[in-house]
Amino acid sequence: MKVKVLCTACINENAALPISEKRDIIPWVTIPLQESKIYSFKCEKGHSCKVIVSGLKHEVLFESGVLALKDGYFREAVTSFAASLERFYEFIILVLLMKEAKSNKIGFDKVWKSVVNQSERQLGAVNFLFFKEFGKAMPTLDDLKISKNDLGGKTPVEFRNGIIHKGLIPTSASAINYGQAVTDHIVQIITEVATTREDLLLDALRYIQANDFAELGEEQPHFMTNAFFLSTLSIFHSFDMTDLVTARTQRLTDYIVRVNNNGMR
Ligand SMILES: [Zn+2]
Repeated sequence: MKVKVLCTACINENAALPISEKRDIIPWVTIPLQESKIYSFKCEKGHSCKVIVSGLKHEVLFESGVLALKDGYFREAVTSFAASLERFYEFIILVLLMKEAKSNKIGFDKVWKSVVNQSERQLGAVNFLFFKEFGKAMPTLDDLKISKNDLGGKTPVEFRNGIIHKGLIPTSASAINYGQAVTDHIVQIITEVATTREDLLLDALRYIQANDFAELGEEQPHFMTNAFFLSTLSIFHSFDMTDLVTARTQRLTDYIVRVNNNGMR
């Protein structure tokens, strides 16, 4: 997967131009996806540039899955969707512990360290935190009304485990169905959190952004804001395709067709 970014210096040089002309003059730079959100590159005019590619980890991983689907790598797509879901649970843990993370960062980091490499512990943590905050059990992936036929006779969790742990190779249709199930599950949870604890959600987004800036140091950043399929911000704001209603109902199959225009390759 590759990410498309724009050079900040080129943007500044052409600041006075109308957007339609800027599009033709400022070239996109294509860089392989990397772990750090801070991308260093040289544009074709020779400017050295550093940018932050915005987007939460689960959004980027999900996008990687969509691109794998588009290119016909169905097993890789499912592993990306599954990783996206795990990172999403991590994000919700942060959201629901925002008060503690801000008031006692050292303590929070210590607790975080004890679960960071163990997804089952994280799942336990997010379930209890969700229950405490909302007074009900967090919906699970297997609660979704998916026909077993959609996933080769398996539940979403069985399907995921077969691919991750047993090396099974999914069909195109089952990989898409799994991606859609993960989407519906994530949107269901994020909508619940956004509806009742928007304050915590926005706080967590600001917290993550502040950490990104801290990593960037003194450099002047340019934020590339991708209209990710699973954009958490789309719950609040309208991007190219999303208001809350659309965000909750968008179909993965439609998005795969449009993904080439979304800043990712
Ligand atoms: Zn440049």
